Amino acid sequence: MFANIIIDISHEKLDRPFGYIIPRRLEDVICVGSFVKVPFGKGNREISGFVIEITDETDYPVEKMKEIMSVSKNKEVVTSRLIELAYFIKTEYGSTMNRALKTVIPVKQKVKHIEKQTIVLNISGDELTDTVAAYNKKRAKAKLRLINELKEVNKIPKDVVVDKLNITNSTLKSMKEEGVIVIESETKYRNPVNVQAQDEYDIVLNDEQNKVASEIKQAMEGIYSGTVLKDDSLNRIHLIHGITGSGKTEVYMELIECAVENGKEVIVLIPEIALTYQTVKRFTRKFKDKVSIINSKLSKGERYDQFERAKKGEVSIMIGPRSALFTPFNNLGLIIIDEEHEGSYKSDSVPKYNAIEVAAHIAETTNSALVLGSATPSLDSYYKAKRGEYRLHTLTKREKGNLADVHVVDLRDELHAGNKSIFSFKLQKLIQERLERKEQTMLFINRRGYAGFVSCRECGVVMKCPHCDVSLKAHNNGKLICHYCGYEVPTPRLCPKCGSKYIAGFGTGTQKVEMSIKKMFPTARVLRMDLDTTSKKGGHEEILSAFANGDADILVGTQMIVKGHDFPNVTLVGVLAADMSLYASDYSAAERTFQLLTQAAGRAGRGSKKGDVVIQTYTPDNYSIVYSKDQDYESFYREEIAYRKLMLYPPVARMTAILMTSKNIDKLDCAVGVASEYIKSFKERNNQKMLAIIGPADAGIARINDVYRKVIYLKHLDNSVLIQIKDNLEKLIETDGRFDDINVSFDFTPQGNY
Ligand code: ADP
Ligand code: ZN
Ligand code: ZN
Repeated sequence: MFANIIIDISHEKLDRPFGYIIPRRLEDVICVGSFVKVPFGKGNREISGFVIEITDETDYPVEKMKEIMSVSKNKEVVTSRLIELAYFIKTEYGSTMNRALKTVIPVKQKVKHIEKQTIVLNISGDELTDTVAAYNKKRAKAKLRLINELKEVNKIPKDVVVDKLNITNSTLKSMKEEGVIVIESETKYRNPVNVQAQDEYDIVLNDEQNKVASEIKQAMEGIYSGTVLKDDSLNRIHLIHGITGSGKTEVYMELIECAVENGKEVIVLIPEIALTYQTVKRFTRKFKDKVSIINSKLSKGERYDQFERAKKGEVSIMIGPRSALFTPFNNLGLIIIDEEHEGSYKSDSVPKYNAIEVAAHIAETTNSALVLGSATPSLDSYYKAKRGEYRLHTLTKREKGNLADVHVVDLRDELHAGNKSIFSFKLQKLIQERLERKEQTMLFINRRGYAGFVSCRECGVVMKCPHCDVSLKAHNNGKLICHYCGYEVPTPRLCPKCGSKYIAGFGTGTQKVEMSIKKMFPTARVLRMDLDTTSKKGGHEEILSAFANGDADILVGTQMIVKGHDFPNVTLVGVLAADMSLYASDYSAAERTFQLLTQAAGRAGRGSKKGDVVIQTYTPDNYSIVYSKDQDYESFYREEIAYRKLMLYPPVARMTAILMTSKNIDKLDCAVGVASEYIKSFKERNNQKMLAIIGPADAGIARINDVYRKVIYLKHLDNSVLIQIKDNLEKLIETDGRFDDINVSFDFTPQGNY
């Protein structure tokens, strides 16, 4: 017996299977998916590998073949389905097989199970009185302190005893030996979902929701019974376009129930940021301990544990961000992707896969249904729905609360009227009203520290990071920080170039908004939520729950605060500078602006009280602002898709970004030239007139952490041509020495700019 093995080295040149002999003694334990140890290379270095195929014949010369040494103890076995999936990701998105496998299959990690210890008083009555007296006599202060506490409560967690009462371990040991206390311990396996003591779920779908749910359920029954064919994407893939608060989540639950009743398992993708306690609780109330979650706060080991539980069938519903897609269920029947327009569904590291495309592939290979939902579907998904590739469903009504009144304020008029603050008169008035009525306000700016850069008003010099081509951002702690590499310096008092003292920060970062609010409304309690305040573990959940509890009147934040949260007491949302994302110079700027504004507007008036939204802008006539005012997705779509058609942008055409990076600028220039010449000759040879080549050019940020970055964009109506170019280029890169110190990555349908 022979095994084809992928070697655990992320190196393009080794990214092919190597044949090994399976020794007799291992024949019964090795299967596809096993992690094995093999001798590799001239020195027979021991290295781990991954079995992707087992055969009785081999093309390799048997006498030269080596034997597998051992199988990893953890007996990790994955189904061939996940290997096929890794292969799909490798070919679609350009990565090594090894990397793709690692993305799809988590490697076993040791989980530290926390041991929870409790100190319990072991004596009573006279014995207790005598012991206290004895300790008094001996002046055993620490022991007295503990026994006096224990007299009242009988048992205290050990960490409290150690941290709060300052009792040392040796004191505890001695008291234990005296028989005064016992130390109880239980191993606490961390279950991320707490399902205790929750009331029953009793929501009944309204007519509109019911219609959508039954249509999709009917398609699901067809899929499960085999009447829906593999390539029938119209019955397999469903897009729910429902305004914010229309009850998409309630429809999802109905569908999950249907899948579970059919003995199927379910994956629910939710953007990380919206994976809050509130959301998870809605699912656990209905499905109890069938639900598990993964999120980035779980350690690798904990994540692995959750995947194991899924594989063993202990849970049947997995909720998580995009990586939850790789949950190794045996009987998958439904994948739901909530807020499907979210950028986080595209991986930002290699392989740069698109979770929706991968989900569609998984749905096809596992015979599952795929349901996408959003209040502002991505142009891509809506385009597919319009073309009959997905089935479109709509939800138009809110069950609770009403849509907010949206006011668009022209900031140019404010300036003419003498208002120099960052809050328009309208917004100031509405904030004041909210404070008086004890209702809550959310203020939102487009990007963290946007334009928070520092420059000299005398000579115009801008403070830049010495390692990256970006300006440093001023922070309240008196430092300038690079948001790309973390470099920091104290804010200079004098201009380093001309010595002028007129060096100052500009623009409206979250911190500045927070300070302005405090100045204008001194009694308001303000919380700020941005990358700075949420970077510590649990940070953003803490802020959100404090806000939900009414601990603050105003929440200031970046786009983080816009997503999927449900705060019934928020009746005012202010968007301070709506245009900022419009200035980003990529083709999807208008789409993202429309999404952000519409989602932001959806945050107001979720409860019974009426909501207001103030959008401050310099370009009130821009169509993304005009249509978001009325939450008019359909009109926005029509205008935007016309522009994409005209310009041959996605989703009409496909686009690939080839990003090439290196520390050596000369080598990079050379390699970029070679690649671009190659693509031009490909175009000519194959008479590909419709292939558009843009660049090579510096990437939007031309240098990060001393690594230079250049980019070439390709556009074509037919994705297979782009994949062909990628495949050919990869071969060239592998063999041509001019690419030796160059890192090349491919990004299909890039969303932002490089
Ligand atoms: P979406 O996911 O579309 O933003 P949600 O599912 O979060 O909407 O629903 C918004 C609110 O309305 C939630 O509090 C939800 O419980 C409530 N809701 C939705 N549908 C119903 C219904 N049929 N009956 C009662 N409450 C509902
Ligand atoms: Zn200067
Ligand atoms: Zn930097």
